[in-house]
Amino acid sequence: MTRVYLSPPEVGADERRMLLEAFDSNWIAPLGPDVDAFEEEFAARVGVGHAVALSSGTAALHLALLLVGVGAGDDVLVPSFTFVATANAVLYRGATPVFVDSAAGTWTVDPALVAAELDRRAAAGRLPAAVVTVDLYGQSCDYDPLVAACERHGVPLVEDAAEALGATYRGRAAGSFGRMGVFSFNGNKIITTSGGGMLVTASAEEADRARYLATQAREPFPHYEHTTLGYNYRLSNLLAALGRAQLAGLDSRITRRRAIDARYREALDGVPGIAFMPVAAYGEPNHWLTCVTIDPALSGTDRETVRLALEAEDIESRPTWKPLHLQPLFADSPVVGGAVCAGIFDHGLCLPTGSALSEADQARVVGTVRGLARG
Ligand SMILES: *Cc1c(COP(=O)(O)O)cnc(C)c1O
Repeated sequence: MTRVYLSPPEVGADERRMLLEAFDSNWIAPLGPDVDAFEEEFAARVGVGHAVALSSGTAALHLALLLVGVGAGDDVLVPSFTFVATANAVLYRGATPVFVDSAAGTWTVDPALVAAELDRRAAAGRLPAAVVTVDLYGQSCDYDPLVAACERHGVPLVEDAAEALGATYRGRAAGSFGRMGVFSFNGNKIITTSGGGMLVTASAEEADRARYLATQAREPFPHYEHTTLGYNYRLSNLLAALGRAQLAGLDSRITRRRAIDARYREALDGVPGIAFMPVAAYGEPNHWLTCVTIDPALSGTDRETVRLALEAEDIESRPTWKPLHLQPLFADSPVVGGAVCAGIFDHGLCLPTGSALSEADQARVVGTVRGLARG
C-alpha cells in the first residue's frame, strides 16, 4: 500500500501534453503565450477584469498589500486562523498584523469583530491600511458585512483566496470581493503549477503595475533602467502551461472533492464528539480540505491520538492551522478575540481529500477514526 497524502497534486495526460508543447515552443522564460493565456482564462473564471500570474501566492499577497498602499508602520487586520503566508506578507511591508478571531459558525474571520475593530480604530483616528480576509479551507468569508464595513471606513480589502479557487459566495466567485484577490498554485492546492500564484483585480492600471513590479520594475528603455524597487515574481511560461491544463479540470476536481467530503460526513455521522467544519448557507465551498474537530470529552479519543493512528497506517492528516496570534513569530502583535480559533486548533484535524483519493483509502481513514471513537 502506498502512502495516502493530505492533498497531493493530480496531473494527467493534458498537463503533460501542454507542458511539453510549451517546452517545444522554446518559451521557457517567465513570459510567453501560456502566461498571457493563463491570465486571461483565469480572470474569466473568477469573473474579474485582470489577472497577473506570479511565482507564488505569497508573492501575490506581497504585491497586493504594496499596491493598496500598505507601508512601514501601518496596521493590517488579518484573520488569526490562517497559514503564516497571509501575515508574513504584512511583515514584508514593514507593517504590523492585527489578528482577528474566527466566527464559530464558519471558522472564517468574524465580520462583527472586524466591523467593531474598524469602528473603534476610526474613533481613535488609527484605521488600518488594509483588511485581509482568508477564504478558509475553500469556504468564503461572509462578504456582505465585511465589504460594507471596509467601504464605510474607506479601508481597502485584500482577499486571500489561496485555498478557495472555484468557491462561491452568493453566486459570485471567491477572489472577486476585494480590491485585490490572491490565489496559490502550490503543490497541495486544488490546482497546482508545482509552485505559483495569481493576483486578480478589476483595475487594468493596478494589474500593469503588478506586472511591472514583478519584473524588477524595469523601465521602458533599451538598456536596464530602474527608478523603483522591484521583485522577480513572474510565473514561468512552462508552469503557466501546466496551470492552464489544471484550470480546465477545476470543475471535475471540485465535484470529486465534494463527493469525498459528503462520504466523510455520511460515514462519520453520529459518531459522538466528531463535528465537521460548518458549511455556511451563503455559498458553495470548493471542498479543498475536509476538517473535523474531535472533542475528547464526548468521543473518548482526541486529535493527536487519531492523527498518530492514521500516521501508523501511512495516512497523512494534519492539525488545523495553529492560530497566528499563538505563534512565537507574532508574539508582539495585537489580537481581537482569539478563543474561537484557539479552540478549533486544540481539537481540529484536516483529513485526506485529494481529488484522486480512492474509496478504499477513504474507508481506511474512516475505519481508523471510528475504531478510536466511542459509539
Ligand atoms: C497556500 C496559502 C498561501 C501561500 O501560497 P504559496 O503559493 O504557497 O506562496 C497563502 N495563504 C493561504 C491561506 C494559503 O493557504
